[in-house]
Amino acid sequence: NVKRDTFVNYVFFNKDMEEALIRQNKIERELRKALADPLQEIIYVEFQPQVDIISGKILGFEALARMKSEDLGHVSPMEFIPIAEEKLLIVELGNFVLKKSCEFIKTLNQHNIFNQWVAINISAAQILRSDFVKTILGIIEECDCDKSQIELEITESLLIDNFELVNNQLDRLRRFGIKISLDDFGTGYSSFSMLEETNIDKLKIDRSFINRITEDNLEVSIAEDIISMAHKLGLTVIAEGVESQNQKNCLSEHECDIAQGYYYSKPISFEKAIKMATNN
Ligand code: C2E
Ligand code: MG
Ligand code: MG
Ligand code: MG
Repeated sequence: NVKRDTFVNYVFFNKDMEEALIRQNKIERELRKALADPLQEIIYVEFQPQVDIISGKILGFEALARMKSEDLGHVSPMEFIPIAEEKLLIVELGNFVLKKSCEFIKTLNQHNIFNQWVAINISAAQILRSDFVKTILGIIEECDCDKSQIELEITESLLIDNFELVNNQLDRLRRFGIKISLDDFGTGYSSFSMLEETNIDKLKIDRSFINRITEDNLEVSIAEDIISMAHKLGLTVIAEGVESQNQKNCLSEHECDIAQGYYYSKPISFEKAIKMATNN
């Protein structure tokens, strides 16, 4: 009996593994197709507004990669970004997102908007390359965009794990006016002194801390601590995943500067985002 159970589990385990592998391979194939022929729009970019918490005015957007194929339907970035990283496709994907973002900025400029930024997520595999700074600057210059309208989001854990090198890359970019934001802040273990030694512009409070602020439980203590610490360091604070008016009010009372989340808008298409920006 015991033997048979073990056998059954073993078979199921393998089947799950096999299915996961098949899906991964399919996603990898779609990624390669997408990058080889961007016009198919298997990979495309959406933009989510980042607003001034007091006035509600749009200050900028975060660019978020999307995947949709005939074969697989919509695939979440939580699923395809790690595969792109593993299969060394993230550099090309990241460059694509940056190019689209530059196009977006150029379109904003055509509507006489010069003060809104686009924030772009950067993976470890990109920033750890020796040609990272050159590549980023090259793309922005080729698109003839103002570097002050570009912001890069890197995660707290990426910075901690590669402090010297990442810090050095960020310094070089900041000299050109590119802004740096520390994403998913609070989930890693950076220290006050580490932050003091880093030249960044913003801290982005992770969604998990915003989630805790609910109707009957105004648990803002962690968000509050992050905000006051960031301000002591002269950094701007942005809250991600703001879904309710209640959360917005709480964060505003505690002097959070910027908010992003479904309460304001989900990530939206290029065209819709331009419309939103111009009606600001
Ligand atoms: P992230 O950079 O922390 O992006 C914020 C995520 O929170 C996005 O998920 C966004 O859609 C979601 N979000 C925003 N507001 C709300 C809200 O009010 N409620 C909830 N529940 N979610 C909200 P998304 O688009 O699924 O992206 C997930 C992650 O994938 C991103 O997290 C980022 O780490 C990564 N990613 C997305 N696009 C790119 C990219 O172009 N390059 C790289 N390297 N990573 C990317
Ligand atoms: Mg981000
Ligand atoms: Mg984030
Ligand atoms: Mg996050």
